[in-house]
Amino acid sequence: MAPDITCSRCGETRPEIASRIPFGSPLKEEAQAKICEQCWGEWQQEQVRVINELALNLGDPRSHDLIELNARQFLGLEESE
Ligand SMILES: [Zn+2]
Repeated sequence: MAPDITCSRCGETRPEIASRIPFGSPLKEEAQAKICEQCWGEWQQEQVRVINELALNLGDPRSHDLIELNARQFLGLEESE
């Protein structure tokens, strides 16, 4: 079983993200440490909307930057430099 974390988005103590995170970026570790499975699921749905709305090409690295930016805004994670 996944250990519980206190989610920085919803404030609840819930299981951490168990599903695979499709980011090879700092966001992956951050989300794993701070975001619960439920909020991550909400982002997964939002991500589909963002990809469709912006007509993103997932073969383009710039698309992944845009998705990460949207993920940070949606999940309330600070921009890291
Ligand atoms: Zn949460």
